[in-house]
Amino acid sequence: MRMVLAMRGSVDSTVATRYWRRLEDGRLLCELCPRACKLGEGQRGLCFVRARQDDAIVLTSYGRSSGFSVDPIEKKPLNHFLPGTPVLSFGTAGCNLTCKFCQNWDISKSRQMDTLADTAGPEQIVQAAERLGCASVAFTYNDPVIFLEYARDVAAACKERGIRTVAVTAGYINPEPRAEFFSFIDAANIDLKAFDEGFYRRIAGGRLQPVLDTLRYLRHETDVWFEITNLVIPGHNDSEDEHRRMSAWIVEELGPDIPLHFSAFHPNYKMRDVPPTSRATLRRARNIAVQQGVHHVYTGNVHDREGDTSFCAGCGTVLIVRDWYEILEWHLRDGCCPTCGMRCAGVFESGPGSWGARRLSVKMTPNGIALS
Ligand code: SF4
Repeated sequence: MRMVLAMRGSVDSTVATRYWRRLEDGRLLCELCPRACKLGEGQRGLCFVRARQDDAIVLTSYGRSSGFSVDPIEKKPLNHFLPGTPVLSFGTAGCNLTCKFCQNWDISKSRQMDTLADTAGPEQIVQAAERLGCASVAFTYNDPVIFLEYARDVAAACKERGIRTVAVTAGYINPEPRAEFFSFIDAANIDLKAFDEGFYRRIAGGRLQPVLDTLRYLRHETDVWFEITNLVIPGHNDSEDEHRRMSAWIVEELGPDIPLHFSAFHPNYKMRDVPPTSRATLRRARNIAVQQGVHHVYTGNVHDREGDTSFCAGCGTVLIVRDWYEILEWHLRDGCCPTCGMRCAGVFESGPGSWGARRLSVKMTPNGIALS
């Protein structure tokens, strides 16, 4: 199946950036994320896509993607943002964290620019989203904060056409670029990898506090709808105490309405010796979070009817029943509980979309898009 889209012309993959300054020793300090890379001429940052060229820090992956697909919005995961709708999803290469368990390591750890085989400027992406009937475009697969300038321009094109934007991110970004980044985002899933500084340092190569700061910022200073995902890794971040403290912090600092997804780990990258997360562990984590007062707690990457279901926070009525990414039952009435009338937190249309669990690969070509 092929569709023909108008061509936008070639895209220059290297663009200027803000958020850096010169140090006394002549190196340039990147101030986009807490990693704080200090670059000599010709060096790349840890994220690989930001580099020092001609005495400035540039983004080298503008308009370049590691691939496009149309996913269900539930796959991001977002269960309270336009349920059932398709989202045109793409990422680039590189990452500003070094998680040993990365589930997308072929993209995030790539040091090969040929990973970025697809070329697509903002206009081509928004046209593809329109033609494919997508309600939103997602910056995902690798962390979009490192390609802020590309995401910003895609988002601007989306806004003009009434298409929403979604970020799937670890939220590891400094305050000033954070304000710019989330100013063009409608919904986000924030990956809260653990509730322990030691885990972030040892396993993710970062720090927890900046992520907590991003979560507080989103809740108290923006209108971005966001949900949180915690990938539960056996023996590393799966203790009852950690889940209790994490859930209590979420309720205390963000309120009880921010949905929390406990997701199953699969052995990958540098943690192939760790077993996959059992359904029992995810259910235990879910029960703890519910006891701590989180209203909407889900289990992910497993079949679990209760952990796939949305319940009314007021009276417990079943609102949405899912099987993995598929919506099986919809009982919301204009976003409210049919029994007690309480509004369900989130962004809902009068009914669900009908995309289902499908995943559609999209190849951007000079003459159009190819679907498979
Ligand atoms: S965005 Fe990239 S270059 Fe900048 S500090 Fe973070 S990892 Fe380093």
